Amino acid sequence: MRLSQRIEGITGGGSDGWDLFYRARAMKAAGEAVLELTVGEHDWTTPRPILDAMHAAATAGQTGYAVVPGLCALREAVAARVAQRTGVATAPENVLITPGGQAGLFAAHMAVCDPGDRALHLDPYYATYPGTIRAAGAVPVAVETRPDDGFQPRAADLGAAATGARSLLVNTPNNPTGAVYSRDTLEGVAEVARAHDLWLISDEVYDTHVWEGTHLSPRALPGMAERTLVVGSLSKSHAMTGSRLGWVVGPEEAIARMIDLATVTTYGVPTFIQQAGIVALGQPALEREGAAVFRRRRDLATRVLEGREGLRLLPAQGAMYVLLDVRATRLSGEGFAHALLDAHRIAVMPGESFGQAAAGHVRVALTVADDRLEAALETLARFAAARAAEAA
Ligand code: PLP
Repeated sequence: MRLSQRIEGITGGGSDGWDLFYRARAMKAAGEAVLELTVGEHDWTTPRPILDAMHAAATAGQTGYAVVPGLCALREAVAARVAQRTGVATAPENVLITPGGQAGLFAAHMAVCDPGDRALHLDPYYATYPGTIRAAGAVPVAVETRPDDGFQPRAADLGAAATGARSLLVNTPNNPTGAVYSRDTLEGVAEVARAHDLWLISDEVYDTHVWEGTHLSPRALPGMAERTLVVGSLSKSHAMTGSRLGWVVGPEEAIARMIDLATVTTYGVPTFIQQAGIVALGQPALEREGAAVFRRRRDLATRVLEGREGLRLLPAQGAMYVLLDVRATRLSGEGFAHALLDAHRIAVMPGESFGQAAAGHVRVALTVADDRLEAALETLARFAAARAAEAA
């Protein structure tokens, strides 16, 4: 039977650059000792107090249908957190609780894009962005950012692509580049959004993982609260990737329409997960401790990789990865990652999995214990130096 063009078109066809990831997984399943530095997932489980709250709520009987927009107490906690961190007045009515940030990204595009609308996003990008935009019926338009700019978007490039567009999706701190957008960058982004009457969708799921600079939410810039939808999540900040707990913050009218969407799609997030989220947000030490691990590993990666032959470390200002320029080896990011996997059983993501702007790069997730990470980075650096020497 024929399926809809919409669903057939979600992947966009062609290779998505994730072959490396699947090959590493298959090698591991076949019993090989592969070290995976691929996906952005913690090497520890959700902290105990959060799990205790989840268990207590579930065993107390909170296993029925959830309230679709989210529990009042959780919407209040998210609103208070956002107001406190950004200075923008935020009420529970500005918050929709979603099953993770990913569902928030989809809901946001569904809310603002009509079928066929151009929806801008930046390249390199988090792997689901183009598919999410297509799933919402819109047309993804990638705007390149450049390694020489530290992958900060240029307002002129955005302006050039913005004519006729409906939305612009930005992500700071950024996956995969580790860039934290400066105030100048975000003022440029906001200027383009206002000038072209765009909705700004701001993916801030790494807002607690900032190593340099400060996280600025573009919703806080003049005239932006009315046209910005902020996507947040407890996945990265609280090691809750499997719990699927996130949110969208935006104008009340847009949130009300997204509640309609949630009613016909997700029907909310399990109440026992939401109760755990309330406990998580009430204990800031939990997120500080999680972030400290990635900061320490970022420093470790900088110490091991900076100044090495054959690779260039891009300064990771946030998130949980480092991006390495391996063009000196004359290999593509894909070629490098496959060769490293073959030679040393170390899996890193080719930059090409995140768009063309990161071609010739690889992304290393800082998601194994420090000693194993250090050894793997040392091996990677020697491998890059040897390949660069061969290429010279
Ligand atoms: N946005 C970015 C930039 C991400 O890296 C991820 C996950 O890796 C997500 C959104 C989705 O996160 P969640 O687990 O909250 O759906």
